Amino acid sequence: MNSGSKTSILVIYTGGTIGMIKDAETGVLKPFNFDNIYQQIPMLKLLDYHIGNYCFDPVIDSSNMNPKFWATIADVIEKNYESYDGFVVLHGSDTMAYTASALSFMLENLNKPVILTGSQLPLGMIRTDGRENFITSIEIAAARVDDTPVVPEVAIYFENQLLRGNRTIKYNAENFQAFKSPNYPSLADVGVYIKYHPANIRKPNFKNLKVNSRMDTNISILRLFPGISENTVKALLQTEGLKALIIETYGSGNAPTEAWFLKLLENAVKSGIIILNVSQCQGGSVDMDKYQTGVTLRNIGVIGGKDITTEAAIAKLMYLFGNENSVGIIREKLTSSLRGEITTI
Ligand code: ASP
Repeated sequence: MNSGSKTSILVIYTGGTIGMIKDAETGVLKPFNFDNIYQQIPMLKLLDYHIGNYCFDPVIDSSNMNPKFWATIADVIEKNYESYDGFVVLHGSDTMAYTASALSFMLENLNKPVILTGSQLPLGMIRTDGRENFITSIEIAAARVDDTPVVPEVAIYFENQLLRGNRTIKYNAENFQAFKSPNYPSLADVGVYIKYHPANIRKPNFKNLKVNSRMDTNISILRLFPGISENTVKALLQTEGLKALIIETYGSGNAPTEAWFLKLLENAVKSGIIILNVSQCQGGSVDMDKYQTGVTLRNIGVIGGKDITTEAAIAKLMYLFGNENSVGIIREKLTSSLRGEITTI
């Protein structure tokens, strides 16, 4: 709750490695009780913020994250939006990029910071990266200039870097630096100082928050590989209720030109299924005008996903099908930047 003039941050604790401590008796790692947070990180007190919390019960490994949990997080933010200056979501790192992408679409007109963080080592371990990630995330969520939040968007803070949530991918399972944003520069770099890069950060629009938590999960992904069989592609496209298929293509959006492959995609597009072309390369953009293989895809109605990550593409499709009725509008929005998730110029 907003306590007078003190900056208030709501910490939403969903689970993941960060929330683990060693049980004093058994030595086994177990999720920490949020009431003990000041015991775990005594320097939090020095920040002089009011820190509220909402805990998932039970807390989850983020491999079990799903759109219902995304809706819970969005709902908690909506209910507490006026009472808090910013939000920190403690989350397992495995699916953090998906959750950050989903929240960016669900939280329309977001004008306050929503910072996701976690850690590679549990908070209860001596060498943990969680303590710094957590404290700095709170500082970032609390940062204001002229009474306006410095980062009014969904971002991931991990190991010295603040990255736009829907541009981020987890790329390393062991390094403290586990995330990167190959196609968009960092929002802030953290060392002795937190150096914000205002030119990279979304501007507040001062409109009222609108939460769109309906997500349609009738989508799928096909990662191409040399030798992929007709049966595999056909089986996926015949999935009951399928509304959109992300194809992870080669390089700048290229795919085989074999007749059976193109025919299957063409028939799917004709039947109303959206096919979104996303590159298997982490950096760079889909350009379906560059090679004949790309042009052929464009001609049969495949949509170029530009430089979107697969994580953001999934979240965007779920969000669009959950909130729009017209396939024409969905097609149009897929090539527009709704929350800074793609580069359009
Ligand atoms: N499996 C854990 C999770 O994603 C890993 C982590 O937190 O980093 O919940």
